[in-house]
Amino acid sequence: MSIIGDPRATPRLPEAVERAAVIDPAAIRHNVRTIASYVHPAKVLVAVKAEGYGHGAVTAARAALEGGADWLGTAHVSEALVLRAAGIEAPILAWLHTRGTDFAAAITEHIDLGISGWEIHHVARAAEALQKPARVHLKIDTGLGRNGCTVEQWPELLSLAAQCQERGLISVEGIFTHLAVADEPDRRETDDQLEVYRHALEVAQEHRIVPDLRHVANTPAAFSRPDAHFDMVRVGVGVYGHSPFADRTAEDLGLRPAMELRTTVANVKQVPTGQGISYGLTHRVDRPTSLALVPLGYADGIPRVAVHAPVWINGRRYQSVGRVAMDQFVVDLEELDTPVQVGDEVVIFGGDSGIEAADWGSAAGTTNYEIITRIGERVPRVVLDSEQAPSAATPQQGSA
Ligand SMILES: *Cc1c(COP(=O)(O)O)cnc(C)c1O
Repeated sequence: MSIIGDPRATPRLPEAVERAAVIDPAAIRHNVRTIASYVHPAKVLVAVKAEGYGHGAVTAARAALEGGADWLGTAHVSEALVLRAAGIEAPILAWLHTRGTDFAAAITEHIDLGISGWEIHHVARAAEALQKPARVHLKIDTGLGRNGCTVEQWPELLSLAAQCQERGLISVEGIFTHLAVADEPDRRETDDQLEVYRHALEVAQEHRIVPDLRHVANTPAAFSRPDAHFDMVRVGVGVYGHSPFADRTAEDLGLRPAMELRTTVANVKQVPTGQGISYGLTHRVDRPTSLALVPLGYADGIPRVAVHAPVWINGRRYQSVGRVAMDQFVVDLEELDTPVQVGDEVVIFGGDSGIEAADWGSAAGTTNYEIITRIGERVPRVVLDSEQAPSAATPQQGSA
């Protein structure tokens, strides 16, 4: 083994890209089409909150719309405004607000607002000042215990909404709720939540509020609960090509991961038995071996607690050892005479590696949702559409 290996170019990326989350809009389009055909005739809202689950909000939104999404969803109005500023005209719903939320901007930019309670006064005031009705979706908490109006206060919120609607300040476009355990299809709490939701719809009808869009299902319910589809589903993780279920892979669901996280080997060295690895020396090698250094750390979103997580180097799977540091982690190459050299391609998950974000989730005691969403800003998102020519690569520095 030579001390200084030949740096090799990675196959599809510009050489200057040292680390990248490679985003494939074709996968997003495919996943939206797959989900849309599955839930038809229900409409599809694609959640592009949190920078499109780490993929880049505008990239994800455009690909979702190309794939047939009817709506886009964000947590915050500020996230929805970014989409409008990028020229996206599709309907958008934003559902998590604070006293700092710019409701006037939302109304002006025709962004629909989820309403759980207190917001209605602020939204009505903003609508009055603008002389333009706000489009709202009333949210009922059917059991998640997070956002949403309680069952007890639901009639009061409906009365207020009916009054505001009569005064031309709001227009109720939807009634929605969010499920707590749809990723575990055998749990009966989902049945309970659906029952509370159906009752909430009846109470709304008594207040003469009968909106066009009843929506409940997230990705797991879109796949496992046809009785939760109603008029629209709100899907996130599935659109990015990941399974919300512990016992079904993305492939089982017909979905393709839209992000590949990759870099190149930053160093390779031989070490003797007993060599300690990384801070805390929590791991020691039990035989002479070689180690590869991977230049991604917790500042890039690799969980510090991940141990024995898989990586793919030159077509072979290895495991991480020792603690993940801020900028780097170590991989045991399992033999002294390793073929791995500095510059070789490392895939953390996605692409041809066969490694899923869910594998990193297991190694770190978390979910694939968190792994894809937490990839840091130091990792450029490189958009590489697999249905277009390779020259279409466009690094998007700082887009997440
Ligand atoms: C994030 C979110 C979704 C999408 O959830 P997935 O499990 O990623 O499909 C749907 N609805 C609401 C209210 C959300 O916050």
